[in-house]
Amino acid sequence: MKIAVIGLGFVGLSLTSVLASKKFNVIGIDVDKEKCRKISNGISPFFEPELEKTLKKGLKNKLHIESDISAVLDCDLIFVTVGTPQNKTGGIELSIIKKAMTSLGKNIRNSKKEHIILIKSTVVPGTIKDVILPILENNSKKKAGKDFGLISNPEFLQESTAIKDTEFPHAVVLGGYKTKFMKKVEKFFTKLHPKIPIIITNHQTAEMIKYANNSFLATKISFINQLSNICQKIPGSNIDDIAKTIGLDPRIGGLFLNAGPGYGGSCLPKDMKALINFAKITGVKPTLLNAVEDVNVKQLEEIISIAKKKLGGLESKKITILGTSFKPNTDDIRDSIAIELIKKFLKRRVKVTVHDPRAIENTKNMFKNKINYAKSIPDAILGSQCIIIMTQWKQYEKLTNKDFKQMKKKMIIDCRRMLSEKQLDVDYYAIGLGKE
Ligand code: NAD
Repeated sequence: MKIAVIGLGFVGLSLTSVLASKKFNVIGIDVDKEKCRKISNGISPFFEPELEKTLKKGLKNKLHIESDISAVLDCDLIFVTVGTPQNKTGGIELSIIKKAMTSLGKNIRNSKKEHIILIKSTVVPGTIKDVILPILENNSKKKAGKDFGLISNPEFLQESTAIKDTEFPHAVVLGGYKTKFMKKVEKFFTKLHPKIPIIITNHQTAEMIKYANNSFLATKISFINQLSNICQKIPGSNIDDIAKTIGLDPRIGGLFLNAGPGYGGSCLPKDMKALINFAKITGVKPTLLNAVEDVNVKQLEEIISIAKKKLGGLESKKITILGTSFKPNTDDIRDSIAIELIKKFLKRRVKVTVHDPRAIENTKNMFKNKINYAKSIPDAILGSQCIIIMTQWKQYEKLTNKDFKQMKKKMIIDCRRMLSEKQLDVDYYAIGLGKE
């Protein structure tokens, strides 16, 4: 069996590398030639733990990297993992996937193979049946379900654990008609992930499952963040003890209850916006989803207002931001809350210095010379009037009084409560802890 993966981003490259490392015959395809060159040389274009190791293992087997989509011709399974970002109005932007499907359709037109196309990209319900299927049929002059298979296969991996999540997903969702193609794909996944539940449903339900998943996770985060705001007003109260305890209740579960500066990253914000937009189109008022977003926006405002109050204004103040990636162990800054914070600070003429163990290059590409980039944590802290810990990188846990000696004003806003157990000789404010 030969497999193609179209789009070598976080999802596609993780899938390509895992399958190739397991000795499947895989072709990874991306339009970005420079990206293809790096990947072919065993270099990941972004940081993801275990990815490079897995990629190198794959390259030693039968993995090929191509920028030409015609390489799909002799492939049985074709996974589509191109980006589906948000457009200016918050809805889903389908131009990238439409373009990819147009050239895929044209390329399989004269093929003798019965290809099975699996859509991993996140798309709102109805997209596969109403948009992708007609594009593929019109351009290939073939019939879905008869000449080729078309299956929704949403992805649930998390960056920073992408390889593990690709190897051991919590579930496999397959959406589409119960054809011979579906049977073949079910067999493939049963072998690949024995013991992992496979849910077979229709296209629109499979598409909706992905949004249900992400909007529920965003809801948990906004819920705990709202509670953390209340805790801040209760002297001595501690959001972590509350989260830990309610998380023990199996009806609730402990994950995604870590109070902080709000949810960010390449998925939750854009998927929430796309779902809200989609709900409105269906005529449903997304009251709860809107509230989840609203809490998220206000959480960042809360941090800014603490800084403003404690510093007596923000203009010309030197503020250090520790962590710009949207979570630790990634260099991804897409829709990172720290990036939003920097943008808001720049509007208020704050002098921003940032530190991040992995994401400095991506941050530089975004802000150029508008902010300062520290090479080390001491460098970031020197002369600062306020430190804001945004990302839970392990390195920041080690900070002690000694490290803060070179600050101009000793003030810390700890959005992750990383230093809450230490006796600090600074004005310390932590999200979710009520000051005694
Ligand atoms: P990405 O933007 O990192 O990567 C997409 C890749 O597709 C890029 O390398 C781009 O060059 C390539 N591409 C674009 N057009 C192409 C074409 N016509 N042919 C070949 N390659 C093409 O995206 P990502 O983060 O990997 O996400 C991919 C999809 O998976 C999105 O729909 C996303 O919502 C979803 N998803 C992402 C994650 C995540 O954590 N990143 C998790 C689950 C689901």
